[in-house]
Amino acid sequence: MAELEQRGERAPAPSKWEYASAPESQEIVKLEDRYGLFIGGQFVQPRSGEYYETLDPSSEDPLAEIPQAGSEDVAIAVDAAREAFADGWSAATPVERAKYLFRIARILQERSREFAVLESLNGGKPIRESRDVDLPLAAAHFFYYAGWADKLEYAFPHRQPKPLGVAGQIIPWNFPLLMLAWKIAPALAAGNTVVLKPAETTPLSALLFCDVLRQAELPPGVVNIVTGDGATGAALVKSEVDKIAFTGSTEVGKAIQRELAGTGKKLTLELGGKAANIIFDDCALDQAVEGIVNGIYFNQGHVCCAGSRLLVQESIYEPLIEKLKRRLTTLRVGDPLDKNTDVGAINSRQQLEKIEELVAAGKEEGAEIYQPPCRLPEKGYWFVPTVFTNVAQSSRIAQEEIFGPVLSVLTFRTPDEAVEKANNTPYGLSAGVWTEKGSRILWMAQRLEAGVIWANTYNRFDPASPFGGYKESGFGREGGRHGLEPYLDFDGAEAFGG
Ligand code: NDP
Repeated sequence: MAELEQRGERAPAPSKWEYASAPESQEIVKLEDRYGLFIGGQFVQPRSGEYYETLDPSSEDPLAEIPQAGSEDVAIAVDAAREAFADGWSAATPVERAKYLFRIARILQERSREFAVLESLNGGKPIRESRDVDLPLAAAHFFYYAGWADKLEYAFPHRQPKPLGVAGQIIPWNFPLLMLAWKIAPALAAGNTVVLKPAETTPLSALLFCDVLRQAELPPGVVNIVTGDGATGAALVKSEVDKIAFTGSTEVGKAIQRELAGTGKKLTLELGGKAANIIFDDCALDQAVEGIVNGIYFNQGHVCCAGSRLLVQESIYEPLIEKLKRRLTTLRVGDPLDKNTDVGAINSRQQLEKIEELVAAGKEEGAEIYQPPCRLPEKGYWFVPTVFTNVAQSSRIAQEEIFGPVLSVLTFRTPDEAVEKANNTPYGLSAGVWTEKGSRILWMAQRLEAGVIWANTYNRFDPASPFGGYKESGFGREGGRHGLEPYLDFDGAEAFGG
């Protein structure tokens, strides 16, 4: 064993593999020059008469013109959803609702390559991730909630679950189709109709999804998609919906909560995070390094539950950082449609500027920066995978959500200190614990203030598992049986997150 470890120490640094490019063809995706709003089962032009361009963030090339829905457009979409609710969807048998959800799931599987290419094209994420994570999980969410649609009485025994009516849903740009699935699947399974607003920078997969709805013959008006910027989202919040489900920044989440206070509309908020990924000295070190990389560089770090604060036990700090730096040299940054790419493009210029600003603040505050040698494409929005060591707890890069491929490393000596440092954040979304001791995992899990805690793994998702935060990470749960509850009313009983 000792000999093996010694040999491991002498192992040469990873050789520089030159990978031939392996681009996925874009042929499978047929883009329109200009899209409409999807209202009442049809694409319609916006009453606002306004459009904007959506881009490929890896090249800055325009892809299509997208309607900027105004408040009148939003009101029409909400009316269409209300009509569909009253005209049949609320009275449809649960088995009938399940039928449509199963159809949607199967069509997503059949068309997954097309969706994966489009998602990478419009969002900048590596095709490997959109193909192997976003699409399978989006289909799995529809399958999962299709299964619940006719079992609500069993999910909530003696509580007489009833749909709320029209759900307004606002989603971000980091997982455009997956967030759509997280929102739409439970809402429909519970018997609601929907008006959904995708993020301004990533509307294309939601618009392609409208085609899936037509293919599945979902009754018109059950799902409506209104595109636009934050003003469209704000109009949806103010509209005559019965519930708002929001995923995005804490700042906008707070504004929505203020707006809805006293209106009686239900609200769930899935907001930001600054998760601690905690590495104990008894963990499997190489496995932990993979978990750290997956925790922060997956999807360019545009992940609300990203393990963006690494807490390392002091006794293994040096070997771990050494291994981590070596691993970073093997990450390939570049063309999102290349199947060998590990880290794709930053989603927008605005997000790139935010990352650059926080990284500059980290340097100014005295943290040490490491970035592997890396050739970035000339056009598009890019950021080299970055590690900051010597980070003070009070530093902005240890406190604020960077939402990019930037890791801040801190150290601890004892489990108590790890808990104290991990909880020293306004957020409470997720955390990771790496140790070989099961008892320590449970001890930590009881003390960490986080909605999701992974043990010896990171960024694992399953539709059956509830996801959500507390403190400034929001409230309400998505996924699992818990994810149905915010879309239901219960006779005489209080709904979770209501
Ligand atoms: P936002 O919170 O602004 O965007 C999320 C969604 O809300 C988008 O659809 C957005 O539209 C919409 N929106 C914006 N303003 C309003 C409003 N006043 N009322 C209703 N809806 C609104 O996030 P950003 O895209 O600006 O990202 C900023 C930061 O937020 C990131 O750097 C990251 O830290 C965090 N974030 C967290 C996410 C998470 O999963 N928890 C996801 C995305 C961001 P539009 O896209 O048109 O602006």
